[in-house]
Amino acid sequence: MARKTVTTDVAIIGGGPAGLTAGIYAGRGQLDTLILEKGLPGGQIAQTEEVENYPGFDEAVPGPELSQRMVKQAEKFGARIVMEEVEGLSGDAYHGFVLHGYEADYRARAVILATGANPRRLGVPGEDTRSTVAASRPAPPATASSTAARRSWSSEAATPRSRRGCSSPSSPTRSS
Ligand SMILES: Cc1cc2nc3c(=O)[nH]c(=O)nc-3n(C[C@H](O)[C@H](O)[C@H](O)COP(=O)(O)OP(=O)(O)OC[C@H]3O[C@@H](n4cnc5c(N)ncnc54)[C@H](O)[C@@H]3O)c2cc1C
Repeated sequence: MARKTVTTDVAIIGGGPAGLTAGIYAGRGQLDTLILEKGLPGGQIAQTEEVENYPGFDEAVPGPELSQRMVKQAEKFGARIVMEEVEGLSGDAYHGFVLHGYEADYRARAVILATGANPRRLGVPGEDTRSTVAASRPAPPATASSTAARRSWSSEAATPRSRRGCSSPSSPTRSS
């Protein structure tokens, strides 16, 4: 039987805060958007008991609630979340990309990598039960950071303040 192929404008690999944020933007920009998530939408933040440092929430918000709200917002703008593990990626920006998953192949004009990270485990007793409560793992400044954004964050952090531009596309004051 022929393998199923799904076609979309934008395919986002990873449904954590970065992928969901990208999904909100792309969906709101009228692009057909698929978010491919191998586990729980919300990523690491969905496993966090309380988040105290998310802008706009002056009271702590439970991680699962925050991630559900992100999912709802992305879906409101038309992004579709598909349970899928992406195992390979081929193609280029000129010809388009093909993502290879368990269930299907996904053709997309643009791909956003938002696969996040896995915190290294210490292997100490109680880590499994306590890690969502006692651990503090603040994100880099751009919590919703794609791989590209992470890169630009670290390079900006290494640039003297006086040489940083004020009108970069990621400037927090920009509205779209
Ligand atoms: C216990 C804990 C507490 C934390 N507390 C806070 C806090 O209080 N405040 C704060 O700011 N930050 C906190 N963090 C950090 C925060 O959760 C992360 O910075 C944030 O989730 C990173 O978002 P992300 O979307 O980049 O990556 P992730 O959240 O890691 O999401 C990446 C997603 O991609 C998916 N994925 C990966 N590979 C594939 C693939 N091949 N195919 C399909 N899907 C794939 C993963 O399943 C995952 O859902 C905490 C983290 C942990 C673990």
